[in-house]
Amino acid sequence: MPELPEIAIFARDMQKELVGRTIARVEVLQPKCLNIPEEEFCAALTGVEILSVTSHGKWIQVQISRGWLLFNLGMGGEILLTSREHLPEKYRLVFDLADGAALAVNFWWFGFAHFVARLADHPMVGKLGPHALDLSLDEFHTLLSGRRGAIKAFLLDQDRIAGIGNVYIQDPLFRAKIHPLRPIQTLTGDEVATLWQALRDTLQESIRLGGAPFELNLYGQKGGWNTSFLVGYREGQPCPVCDAPITKIKTGSTSSYICPSCQPLEPK
Ligand SMILES: [Zn+2]
Repeated sequence: MPELPEIAIFARDMQKELVGRTIARVEVLQPKCLNIPEEEFCAALTGVEILSVTSHGKWIQVQISRGWLLFNLGMGGEILLTSREHLPEKYRLVFDLADGAALAVNFWWFGFAHFVARLADHPMVGKLGPHALDLSLDEFHTLLSGRRGAIKAFLLDQDRIAGIGNVYIQDPLFRAKIHPLRPIQTLTGDEVATLWQALRDTLQESIRLGGAPFELNLYGQKGGWNTSFLVGYREGQPCPVCDAPITKIKTGSTSSYICPSCQPLEPK
């Protein structure tokens, strides 16, 4: 499932390739992924110029001359810059550009391609928490202060902080020696600072390496952030710090990989 790094990479590459280009035609094969009727969606996007592409958490925000085109890849998907002659086998939408190129969008299961006139009007994007990499340490402290409940569930809640999912949460909690179920109010200032730094380092390292290898980028290439997990998805293997076996535990609706010795639920 794409998270902040993969989506940020799409936005960066789309900004580089698409700004100034015009959408000439839209083909929709999965109208259910739209937020408005297909005819309205196609009419809104036909003939518009692409002004900028940015990301906020797991959303790609394409600013066009008439408003915003928003993508969310859901459990996974591809946005491929190609041509009509070289369309991929599977796609749900195609945006034909006036210069002959085509942007083919596929969702593995289900995703969103939405049009809104104003970002603030969008029911999901309008209430997203701050983009995880935009938060200063002070802002991160403020976000957590007075909060109750488990730290992991809070960090995965896109309305609190946007961009972190179950892949990129694993190692930062380990690096900060924090059990995923630790109540937020029990975290010390030092733990919060270490967690903030570890989140930044993990997300930025993945962006630098091209994102996760199970996702393709705008050019159809795989990311290179693959063998970097310390504890994530390494059940049974030795902890890189203390050699205790890494354990997979249930944390609400998600799974977590932890070192039970480095990340005790009750800190000493
Ligand atoms: Zn350990």
